[in-house]
Amino acid sequence: MKYRTDPSLLSEVRKYGRFDTNACLQCGSCTVSCDLTNNTDSFPRKTLRYTLIGLREQLKSRLEPWLCYYCGDCSTTCPRQTEPGEAMMTLRRYLTAQYDWTGLSAKIYKSKFWEIGSLLFFGIIVLLLVVYYHLFYAELEYEVFISEPMPMEHMFGLIGTFTTVVFLIPLFFLLINSLRMYWLTMRSGDNLKIPFHLYYTEAKTFLLHAITQKRFRDCAVRNRWIKHLILAAGCGLMVFIKFFFLEWFQTDSIYPVYHPQRWLGYFAAGALIYTTVEILISRIKKREEIHKFSNANDLIFPIMLLLTAVSGLAVHIFRYLGLELTTHFTYAIHLAIAVPMLIIEIPFGKWSHMIYRPLAIYFKAVKEKALQVEINKEPVLENV
Ligand code: SF4
Ligand code: SF4
Repeated sequence: MKYRTDPSLLSEVRKYGRFDTNACLQCGSCTVSCDLTNNTDSFPRKTLRYTLIGLREQLKSRLEPWLCYYCGDCSTTCPRQTEPGEAMMTLRRYLTAQYDWTGLSAKIYKSKFWEIGSLLFFGIIVLLLVVYYHLFYAELEYEVFISEPMPMEHMFGLIGTFTTVVFLIPLFFLLINSLRMYWLTMRSGDNLKIPFHLYYTEAKTFLLHAITQKRFRDCAVRNRWIKHLILAAGCGLMVFIKFFFLEWFQTDSIYPVYHPQRWLGYFAAGALIYTTVEILISRIKKREEIHKFSNANDLIFPIMLLLTAVSGLAVHIFRYLGLELTTHFTYAIHLAIAVPMLIIEIPFGKWSHMIYRPLAIYFKAVKEKALQVEINKEPVLENV
């Protein structure tokens, strides 16, 4: 196989974050210190080397950046302070941009103005839609619109359709980007033939890791996995109840405290508030190795999540207090925060790793099984 090097690769990768590996002496201490590396997945040294020598196509086909869960051990061990853990993080951002056909991931990773701008753009669109609906679609007078809100139940059909569209948009982009990840990582490079049945027999690997993200557990401090699990549970629950049980929330009624609307909602909001506040404090303080290089971009996503949870909780509190008008305005603000976050962050930003990581583990499992099949097919040489 011919390898073509591209000297521009390193400078391109550096636009996605820190990749300061010029001083690397190839000692391999980083790989030795990594708890997640093994004979078949050797990283971070090897992956960083691909970038340094400009092997663009090989880099795009690698799954290793997704198998790193950023504990920071390799950075602590590196005798040249080249921060290999942070470099792997930069590679994940670069790869996310390669999978994304729209080019939006590249723009929001390279410039915080693009990320903030696109979130603001969709937030304003949502607020305009709320005003449009009340004044033109529902034909309310302006005075009525600002003084007597329409009962939430009256908008259920419209909001239900709107919610479905809002969830389907990121799913559509994530699906296409995942297919591109498949194409880049499974269909190029080696000539390994993969029997089709392995894709569905190994699907359990994807489900297991998508739900539990359990590989985190093998990486450094265990409580980080538990915090991540709480965050994922809060996000997953929030999406699930809003998608399947929207009528519980699109209401002016107060449910009894034993109703799932109350306790599931409290759990989702509590999980999101606890974990996002903890993440924000860690990223601002920068005490741990993994937060040493946190910047303003790294704060945007947890802030959006926190605001979504707080505004959702505020809607509930105002409804409980009987402040009907305040409840409706807060609900509009809640939508203006949550909708852009779902549309931008799930398929193009930070949230996409929740899919790319389990996909990488799944693709790796499929490849390993396929290799095993090939080995078993090899004719056994008789002793002569
Ligand atoms: S950050 Fe942790 S998991 Fe990632 S390569 Fe370094 S040691 Fe391994
Ligand atoms: S430990 Fe540092 S110097 Fe050694 S191979 Fe890894 S990145 Fe390079």
